[in-house]
Amino acid sequence: MPTLKPITIVGGGLAGLTLGIALRKKEIPVTIFEAGNYPRHRVCGEFISGRGQAALTRLGLQAELEPANIARTVAFFSETKSTAPRILPEPALCLSRFVLDNSLAEKFRQLGGQLLEARRFTHEFGEGIVRSTGRRVPVNQTGTRWFGLKVHVRKVSLAADLEMHVSPRGYVGLCRLNEDEVNVCGLFRKRADENPSARNWREILCGKIGSPLHQRLAAAEFNAHSFCAVAGLSLRPQRAVLRAEICIGDAITMIPPVTGNGMSMAFESAELAIEPLAAWSRGETSWNVARQKISQRCDETFARRLVWAKWIQRLLLTPGLQNPLLAVATHNEWFWRMLFEKTR
Ligand SMILES: Cc1cc2nc3c(=O)[nH]c(=O)nc-3n(C[C@H](O)[C@H](O)[C@H](O)COP(=O)(O)OP(=O)(O)OC[C@H]3O[C@@H](n4cnc5c(N)ncnc54)[C@H](O)[C@@H]3O)c2cc1C
Repeated sequence: MPTLKPITIVGGGLAGLTLGIALRKKEIPVTIFEAGNYPRHRVCGEFISGRGQAALTRLGLQAELEPANIARTVAFFSETKSTAPRILPEPALCLSRFVLDNSLAEKFRQLGGQLLEARRFTHEFGEGIVRSTGRRVPVNQTGTRWFGLKVHVRKVSLAADLEMHVSPRGYVGLCRLNEDEVNVCGLFRKRADENPSARNWREILCGKIGSPLHQRLAAAEFNAHSFCAVAGLSLRPQRAVLRAEICIGDAITMIPPVTGNGMSMAFESAELAIEPLAAWSRGETSWNVARQKISQRCDETFARRLVWAKWIQRLLLTPGLQNPLLAVATHNEWFWRMLFEKTR
């Protein structure tokens, strides 16, 4: 067997770990640099929906999804209105990132991958190095700035497996992870004077007093250790072909979290990168050709859903449109299914 060229992956989140596992299954030497440690909590709605589930199954990683709770229903709320639960066109999975990232990291190690924890990669990117560093903080960002908050809570009963609560400044998703725990995760517009990791995170997540969200979380028991925050999010779609490096996952672009499709895109982009990278490792193609193939495949696969997600997010966060949009999505089956399908 010819010598296989080694691959370095920078970032051991979902995209990096999935790719690392798939390449190890082909015996390719892989090193992952991860700036943080496992297990750890991450800002994420922890709601896995879309083609990523099938991608993980194809990669033989269904066991890593087994602890997930299956979500079959969703209910929408604004600050003043509640809608009846409705069936998700396809069931989704709700799984804590604390659990999922850790089990993928374990799997990667079991397959002989070298996982360097607490090691931030600071070198230049070049041949043999894949970027899966997650969201990018744009330099000179203009337009809306977003921040995300996440915490796990207990003693909350939900009207559906997933509850989406929208307000003029953002949205909060509540998703049941298991019998006890519910993930509470929100995306919010950042005000100039606001620090999202400040002590008022609970107030921000619980929403306006009297709103359905506030009522839902009134008696909740918060697990403060699970709290995490992320700021400087840019939700403007970017194209992979414009990146100088091979990128996967959020390192290409972030899809608005309202779709619950970011994790899926991380798995899918990792899968799309396997064959071109394996061909490079075997010496059958150049790094540049591998980069072009991966970026073109990613752009073709994700372009449509990114555009739809951008517009849905924009409309959903326009205060006067929230209640009408929720009403249409709730009462018109065709419209609801169409929005679901276009963002996946
Ligand atoms: C508020 C919010 C809610 C969300 N809700 C959902 C949801 O419900 N469903 C869904 O599917 N998606 C959701 N997402 C999106 C989802 O979390 C991401 O799409 C997904 O985590 C992307 O995976 P990734 O591997 O690309 O990046 P990440 O998971 O962010 O991993 C990137 C990794 O790279 C590491 N890293 C970065 N730089 C370096 C470096 N220089 N050296 C070494 N390591 C480095 C980081 O430590 C990190 O571990 C949400 C996002 C937000 C912000």
